[in-house]
Amino acid sequence: MRTLITGGAGFVGSHLCERFLADGHEVVCVDNFITGGGGNIEHLRSNARFSFIRHDISHHIEIDGPVDNILHFASPASPVDYLRHPIPTLKVGSLGTHNTLGLAKAKKSRYLLASTSEVYGDPEVHPQREEYWGNVNPIGVRGVYDEAKRFAEAMTMAYHRSHGVNTHIVRIFNTYGERMRLDDGRVVPNLMGQALRGEPLTVYGDGSQTRSFCYVADLVEGISRLLFADFHDPVNLGNPNEVSILDFAKEILELSGANSRIEFRPLPQDDPKVRRPDITRAKQVLGWEPKIERREGMRRTMEHFRNKVNA
Ligand code: NAD
Ligand code: UDP
Repeated sequence: MRTLITGGAGFVGSHLCERFLADGHEVVCVDNFITGGGGNIEHLRSNARFSFIRHDISHHIEIDGPVDNILHFASPASPVDYLRHPIPTLKVGSLGTHNTLGLAKAKKSRYLLASTSEVYGDPEVHPQREEYWGNVNPIGVRGVYDEAKRFAEAMTMAYHRSHGVNTHIVRIFNTYGERMRLDDGRVVPNLMGQALRGEPLTVYGDGSQTRSFCYVADLVEGISRLLFADFHDPVNLGNPNEVSILDFAKEILELSGANSRIEFRPLPQDDPKVRRPDITRAKQVLGWEPKIERREGMRRTMEHFRNKVNA
């Protein structure tokens, strides 16, 4: 099998490259390094079944030979990154999705779109089921990401319905783990980096907003099941174990052994107040549920960041 992964040099993408190589696939990784370098895939380069193409997927792409699977993961993903790159974010969600769907149609590939819990916006339904249409501010600062992903879902369903492409949509909830960038601005690397450097932990707002954190190995297992499932509607993948950001910061302090204080900062615009996946569909369709407890996943991730901070 030959599998093309856009955004394959990113955090989740690099774990997917690794997983499909381990499953015996030939992997073609496409990335333009807009939010990172090649560090995450350095260890894969010596594998004869791995190849890398540096390309902005918002522009047309030609691939020689067969492509059995396409996973479209290219997109700035951290709020800090997509606020820094608003137009490339809109383009990769729209034009990048169109280009990869066109390729899937031409090559008769299986297709999987990386969507997000952000399609639910600041949700008025809790926990979030796939049937919920969301509460998104289209002209707010986060709209560049949320609306690009909503457009990407609409385009994916249109290619499925009009052209019969074998598409899949995963709505990913906050995922963390090894190979996140220490400076990507998301809460896990921010707070862990601060704790390991002995700096104050920055909690935005009063920290009462909630998130539900999924360890990357669990996510990757769910994605590989979804790619081969006979199911085309969106599927939430995430860990339903919900925590307030203030309690999460306290957990990180305890785990790191740091005696940093917590420093409250203004809440960013349109920051969702709650977020927790309803994973009934993933359980039924994929027989999937997360296996790694937050404490264990955080311990592993902390070791990864400890090495980076000390490097
Ligand atoms: P990441 O920033 O680590 O990786 C994204 C990668 O995409 C980067 O390597 C970047 O250079 C590449 N990229 C961006 N635009 C590109 C373009 N136009 N052409 C080619 N490459 C491009 O982010 P991540 O956390 O690994 O997220 C991967 C995907 O999963 C994204 O689509 C994101 O929206 C989705 N997602 C992630 C999470 C999460 O919690 N990690 C949650 C929801 C959705
Ligand atoms: N957050 C925080 N301190 C930080 C970074 C983020 O309190 O240093 C909060 C942020 O306001 C949000 C939550 O943590 O409520 C998760 O933020 P993240 O950027 O990881 O992603 P989001 O879930 O908002 O997409």
